[in-house]
Amino acid sequence: MKPAPFRYADPRSLDEALDVLAADPGAKVLAGGQSLLPLLAMRLAAPATLVDVNRVPGLDAVEVTGDGVRVGALVRHARLLRDEPAARVQPLLARATANVAHPAIRNRGTTVGSIAHADPSGEMTSVLALTGGSVTVATAGAGRPSAGGTCSWGRWRRR
Ligand SMILES: Cc1cc2nc3c(=O)[nH]c(=O)nc-3n(C[C@H](O)[C@H](O)[C@H](O)COP(=O)(O)OP(=O)(O)OC[C@H]3O[C@@H](n4cnc5c(N)ncnc54)[C@H](O)[C@@H]3O)c2cc1C
Repeated sequence: MKPAPFRYADPRSLDEALDVLAADPGAKVLAGGQSLLPLLAMRLAAPATLVDVNRVPGLDAVEVTGDGVRVGALVRHARLLRDEPAARVQPLLARATANVAHPAIRNRGTTVGSIAHADPSGEMTSVLALTGGSVTVATAGAGRPSAGGTCSWGRWRRR
């Protein structure tokens, strides 16, 4: 099958992405597309608008913070897997990410997309809960969740 027709938006800033999302409450963010595109192709999802955030700058950073590791909305699984400072602060991140799918999926799929998709069989939501992590959501005003989220993962602590 092929996806139902949709409007494709290709914003170049977070504000622009938020405006497009606010204009259509049924719009979907497109990150790595590894979960969303099969759903569209099978017509299990048929949003009128797809908001491709891949050209939004500033969403691809992995940062070590005082509390742990912060991961931007466009960080691919493969990038997180290779990040040595992040692995030192929270080794469970790399160990879990190595079990996510296979290299082709990890090269495109994003860690934040995995959290947003919230498949109960996915690794990263469990790791987020286990490490006392949190999700920061960007919204246009008081609107719905949108494109610019980050996830923060707690530090590893010896017990
Ligand atoms: C064959 C295959 C095997 C897989 N195996 C595993 C596995 O073993 N373990 C595992 O954990 N995962 C697995 N996955 C899922 C994979 O980790 C995906 O990368 C992930 O679930 C979604 O990330 P994505 O960036 O591709 O998101 P997309 O497919 O682009 O989006 C998925 C959903 O999240 C929403 N979304 C994405 N980013 C944002 C954002 N920034 N803000 C708001 N909403 C957002 C989208 O609108 C959509 O509803 C597998 C996938 C495939 C196709």
